[in-house]
This record gives sequence, C-alpha cells and structure tokens, in this order.
Amino acid sequence: MAPLRVRPYSRQTWAEIDLSQIERNVRLIGEFVGPGVELMPIVKAGGYGHGAVPSADAAMRGGAKVLGVASLDEAKELYENAIDCDIAVLGFIEENFQDDAIRFNFIGNLYREEQIPILERQARKLGKKARVHIKIDTGMIRLGVPEEKAGAFIRRVLESQEIQLEGIFTHCPLSDDPENSFTVEQFERFMRIVSSLPDLPEKIKLHAANSAAILDFPQTHLDLVRPGILCYGHYPGDGVKREVEVSPALELKCQIIDLKTIQPGTGIGYGHLFSPKKEMLVAVIPIGYADGYNRLHSFGGEVLIRGRRCPIVGAVSMDFTMIGVPDDLEVEMQDVVTLIGSDENEEITVSELARKLSTIPYEIFCLLGDRVYREYLNEPGQD
Ligand SMILES: *Cc1c(COP(=O)(O)O)cnc(C)c1O
Repeated sequence: MAPLRVRPYSRQTWAEIDLSQIERNVRLIGEFVGPGVELMPIVKAGGYGHGAVPSADAAMRGGAKVLGVASLDEAKELYENAIDCDIAVLGFIEENFQDDAIRFNFIGNLYREEQIPILERQARKLGKKARVHIKIDTGMIRLGVPEEKAGAFIRRVLESQEIQLEGIFTHCPLSDDPENSFTVEQFERFMRIVSSLPDLPEKIKLHAANSAAILDFPQTHLDLVRPGILCYGHYPGDGVKREVEVSPALELKCQIIDLKTIQPGTGIGYGHLFSPKKEMLVAVIPIGYADGYNRLHSFGGEVLIRGRRCPIVGAVSMDFTMIGVPDDLEVEMQDVVTLIGSDENEEITVSELARKLSTIPYEIFCLLGDRVYREYLNEPGQD
C-alpha cells in the first residue's frame, strides 16, 4: 500500500508500529531459549510505548503464554481487552488493592512478610486462591525478599492454604555486561536458596532473565524468561551479545506542516536559540516535548527528510519543532519527516537518540506521549 499523503488523524504525528516484527522478535527469542523455557514478554508502560494491547496480542502470536506488567491497572487493561493469557504483575500493588489481583486471577508479586496475612485474608474472603510469584532480592536492592530470609519466607508461603505459589524469581541489574561476574554470582546465590528447599514442587517456575541476561547469561534461562526491550527489537545495551537478531518495530514520524524562508540573523523559536547566518528554509513539524520528543534535541538534534539528515533549529517547544532544510534539498509541504527510523539510506536509531540525550532507549520509548497516534502495521486480519 502506498503511504497516504494525509494521515487519517488530524495532527499528522504518528508512530508506525509493525506488529509482525514484535511477533517475530518474540518467536526468535523463543527459538533461542529453546522449547523447555516459557516466555513472559513484558508489556508494561504501554508495551514500552508500542501499545500494551496490540503488543500483548503480537507477543502471544509469537508464543507467549504469560505476560508481565508493572501495575494492577496495566494488568486490568489487558484483561479488559480480552487478552486471554496469564498476567503477572511484577511491580508493586498497594495492599488495599491486592484483592482485585486475586479477583481477576492475576499473578501477584510477593516479597514482604506483611503481605502474607493480608493476601490470605483477602483470598479467604473471595473464596479464591491468591496466585503469586515470590521475588528474591539477590542484588538489585529494589523489591524482593532479602536473601537471608528467603528460605523461611518461601516455606511459610508453601504452607499457606490461601496462597498458590507458582514461581520464584530474581532480577539482574548488571546482566547487560557479559564480562561482569556479579550476574553469575547472584544467580548462584539464587540457585542455592531454591535448592535448599528440596520439597519445592516441580511446577513452581524459577526465573531470572531479563533481555540482557537472556543474551549474555544462558544459564539464567531456567523455566521462564522475561524479555522486555528485546521484544520491541532493541538490545538492552551496547555491550550485550547479539545472539538473537531482533528488528525494531517502531518508527516515529510526522509531516511538514509549514515552510518558511527566513533571512540571516532571524531568531527562531522560544528564546531565539538559533539564527541562521544566511537565508534558510525552515520546516515546521507538529511534535514537541509534550509528545516525548525531548527538549534537549534543541541542541544538536536531527531528523530525516527525503533520506537526508536535517538539523533541528531553535528550541523544541511543547507542540512544535523547527527544522533547517539544507540548501540543496527540495522539500514540500506534507513531506514525511522521520524522527526515529529509516528513510532511504539514512537511519536514526533509538540508540543514537539515547546516546545524544545521555539516556537509554527504554526511556525514549516510555516517554512517547499519547498524542502520538499509534498506526499499526500487520495487524492480524488486516491486509
Ligand atoms: C521490566 C522488567 C523486565 C524486562 O526488562 P528488559 O530489560 O526490558 O528485558 C524483566 N523483569 C522485570 C522484573 C522487569 O521489571
């Protein structure tokens, strides 16, 4: 299908998300970890900005049987949109809200002593079991049962009539560095805790691997892996082993909505941060920092027009950004401007943007605003 000249939404700022790419990435991760290992793709934060429900759907087509999110509301969003698989809330649920997790059959994250009697009371009241995975902190220093208490904690939960223990897990903060022995050490400590419980039922799933550990530390695959960023086609860091060849699913684009020729010395935008030394054609695009296009792009940011890199001129504002068009580039109103993605032989990757902003690709995705229309390619049933 030829691209539409005018998109079917008023603002002409959109993210193109190829769902078949998410499906393929998940399938490739599945092939890499092998048939004995379950996949729990992580679709928190609106599927890392790609849209939680469509991403969840694509991940299921790629072989996922359980999905991970960070909050109860995220889990409910999937449930309410008929995502038909197990959903694990790996983050925090305030205790007054935990009964909803039980009601909806979500898998909760259990890691504090005080949670146990509350869960038991809520489960009894609802006449249902509270499904949980226990998180052990082996070196993240975030959520998790401290290692020295983990054995007794697990035993206590195994005895509970109301709590159904389905998994035990940990998280690896340094797994994006294949040379760093910390991950191996923390993993061994995790395994020592679980193997100190000889009567642990077989069906309890052990898991530890995020995207980076999937790639760098295959011994951490255990019964289940939790790939996040990798499902969306990006590597969790520059140093990781690229054992799975994933491809990006998202491109960020908009159209030129105004063009003007300005004279030398004319200040552009708020604060007149930039003024050209000679006559310049300036293109206006409808995206700004409220859309997650960081204001720091005012200083050295670039976009692609007709396969060429063009500089951002002046300050990125809340709703708009101005682009300096090179003298020898012919542009027109409604030309597509690519902020993330490729155009002819040029490409702006999320990694490039992240490096420029001293951040990581994760943050760039998560900050993409709601005003950016999500245009899905290759949805099932769409031709
Ligand atoms: C977010 C998250 C993941 C996924 O991390 P990636 O680096 O994106 O693969 C895995 N496990 C937990 C507990 C998480 O919170």
